[in-house]
Amino acid sequence: MTGTIRFDLPQSAIPTHWYNIQADLPRPLPPVLHPGTHQPVGPDDLAPLFPMGLILQEVSQERYIEIPEAVREIYKLWRPTPLLRARRLEKALDTPAHIYYKYEGVSPSGSHKLNTATAQAWYNKQEGIAGLTTETGAGQWGTALAQACSFFDMECVVYMVRISYEQKPYRRAIMQSFGASVTASPSEATQAGRAILEQDADSTGSLGIAISEAVEAAAASEGKYKYALGSVLNHVLMHQTIIGQEALQQMELAGAYPDVVVGPTGGGSNFAGIALPFLQQNLSAGKTTRLLGVEPAACPSLTRGQYAYDFGDTVGMTPLVKMYTLGHSFVPPPLHAGGLRYHGMASIICELWDQDLIEMRAIPQMETFGAAITFAKAEGIIAAPEAAHGIAGAIREALAAKEAGEKRVILFNLCGHGHFDMSAYDAYLGGQLSDYEYPQAAIDRAMAELPQVG
Ligand SMILES: *Cc1c(COP(=O)(O)O)cnc(C)c1O
Repeated sequence: MTGTIRFDLPQSAIPTHWYNIQADLPRPLPPVLHPGTHQPVGPDDLAPLFPMGLILQEVSQERYIEIPEAVREIYKLWRPTPLLRARRLEKALDTPAHIYYKYEGVSPSGSHKLNTATAQAWYNKQEGIAGLTTETGAGQWGTALAQACSFFDMECVVYMVRISYEQKPYRRAIMQSFGASVTASPSEATQAGRAILEQDADSTGSLGIAISEAVEAAAASEGKYKYALGSVLNHVLMHQTIIGQEALQQMELAGAYPDVVVGPTGGGSNFAGIALPFLQQNLSAGKTTRLLGVEPAACPSLTRGQYAYDFGDTVGMTPLVKMYTLGHSFVPPPLHAGGLRYHGMASIICELWDQDLIEMRAIPQMETFGAAITFAKAEGIIAAPEAAHGIAGAIREALAAKEAGEKRVILFNLCGHGHFDMSAYDAYLGGQLSDYEYPQAAIDRAMAELPQVG
């Protein structure tokens, strides 16, 4: 039990380019469709919401896109992030597996989200945009975007899912400390919000509703604001590939190469961030690393959803994206404390899943929180509940290696710390959580409401 457990890189090793998987996909992504005409959307359709610099990245087929110098300068505040070998966890599990994790919780916002927030704010600033609107659920994305906007002296308007707004006052205070304005969603400030409140005055909100509000607020601002999304879109996943590129260098320092790479999947960005550079090695360098995404059993978009065109939001304002979806009307069960509540999934992840290039597991929340506690006791870090799904997946892999008597190498993405999510741990420790399988009847009902695309 001796030897290096932490593999650090110098600042000069921060990647200079993002990796764009679109250049290497065996089959191109399905087109994104206009919600009214059902025709493929072009750059002009997206221009009210996003700056051209990001729209071009969204559809780019270039393998590498250079990271602007100003963005790399800000990355130096927390990058390269550490990669560690979890020797104490290995011992606790009594497994022959070697477990490594990449820790994105060292960013000022506490998660990987700042990697893309910084880039998105910069591209908007370049095009003279005054501020960004967005939604946030647990608060990780709103925090990251508030920080990124403050780095570039921009406004930030956040629609925060009402239940989180009420249960997480400190998250809200952090965003406000960086100058963001934060509104509980559904709100009276938008048509989308008012329509929901008319149906249900006590609505606790959902990510889908908050997205509708943020999109409407940007579209109605006559060019003052644009909209920023913290996951799902191609350019967001691409910005996160710095995680996997650093991890490739760090695994080399460790003298090992992963048999399996694991990450939690909500919209797919942190999993893509760590997995795609390894997928590139599979596709181009003959490697055979398994890539394993983990989703909650309470919100099983990939393992139980249907691959179909659906809206990205609840109200039906966004373009139609082909994705594994639980239906845009999906409202997560209130008992579910583990995050990752989005009804759909990034198009890139869906295509990789459909093409059998990645694997997926759905893990129930009691196992997930149990894994987080085991990890915390061994390694000293309280993970974000979302990140705990990655831990649970890695622990399953480590126990399978033990069963097989094999010294497998496991790498997982510890994408954020849980210091502002202790109410979820409190509920777990207080015996208030239980497992919940999303009911098939609810999935069937939502599938009947999918938009009909010819
Ligand atoms: C936002 C978030 C997620 C889920 O989003 P992905 O795009 O799937 O990464 C997971 N973990 C943490 C810590 C997050 O902040």
